[in-house]
Amino acid sequence: MAGKRLIVMGPPGGGKGTQAKRLQDRYGIVQLSTGDMLRAAVKAGTALGKQAKTVMDAGKLVSDELIVAMIAERISEADCANGFILDGFPRTVLQAESLDKLLKSKGIKLDSVIEVAVPDARLIERVTGRFTCAKCGEGYHDKFKQLRKAGVCDTCGGTEFIRRADDKAETVVARLKAYHDQTAPLMPHYERQGLLKVIDGDRDINVVAAELERVLGA
Ligand code: ADP
Ligand code: ADP
Ligand code: ZN
Repeated sequence: MAGKRLIVMGPPGGGKGTQAKRLQDRYGIVQLSTGDMLRAAVKAGTALGKQAKTVMDAGKLVSDELIVAMIAERISEADCANGFILDGFPRTVLQAESLDKLLKSKGIKLDSVIEVAVPDARLIERVTGRFTCAKCGEGYHDKFKQLRKAGVCDTCGGTEFIRRADDKAETVVARLKAYHDQTAPLMPHYERQGLLKVIDGDRDINVVAAELERVLGA
């Protein structure tokens, strides 16, 4: 694949995590999901987790300072040396500028920024039908990616599943507003750098994955 340092952007429920995981499995580059990191901090009850929980439950964005510090630390770990897929970060212009500086200081260049575009009207259904395996983290959907065998994870055989506290229709509206107000302005930032590639995410998961591979020259 041409390039191993990627950003996957898109609205809540757009399919970023689904596609980023597939790239991780296929190309052996780690997926760095700020949402997953925050949820792990909430579960562990750390100071960061306590601060983030209220903000996440309200569908708002956690402060740039906390997020940038979290990513700076994570990206310096050994498993990121071979490449990484940023999923859900950056989400504000300030985060993008901080990332530019961080990568510059490490002598690293981004290869591509992918926008998975999905119309708002589709997202409530995507988000409210989402669930994941508690054991292996595999993502599913009530309608679009069902379990092959009821109650059992296809991947690991686990039988416990999780639904996110913020995956409610009311919260999605706030998350979509945050996306349009604070994250959408990043597209011109990356377009100017010649990195932005927009793909139509309003198609079957496998079709989107194939398109992504084509765009990445994989
Ligand atoms: P994001 O990480 O952008 O919030 P997810 O990858 O978690 O989004 O996808 C949201 C939900 O929609 C999940 O339940 C997932 O299984 C499902 N999904 C992902 N991509 C598609 C697609 N192309 N078509 C239909 N459903 C999808
Ligand atoms: P989704 O892909 O469905 O939008 P995420 O798992 O990426 O959800 O994020 C869940 C929540 O975590 C966000 O609504 C926000 O509160 C917080 N969050 C995740 N990433 C960031 C970020 N880069 N900046 C600020 N807040 C974030
Ligand atoms: Zn599983």
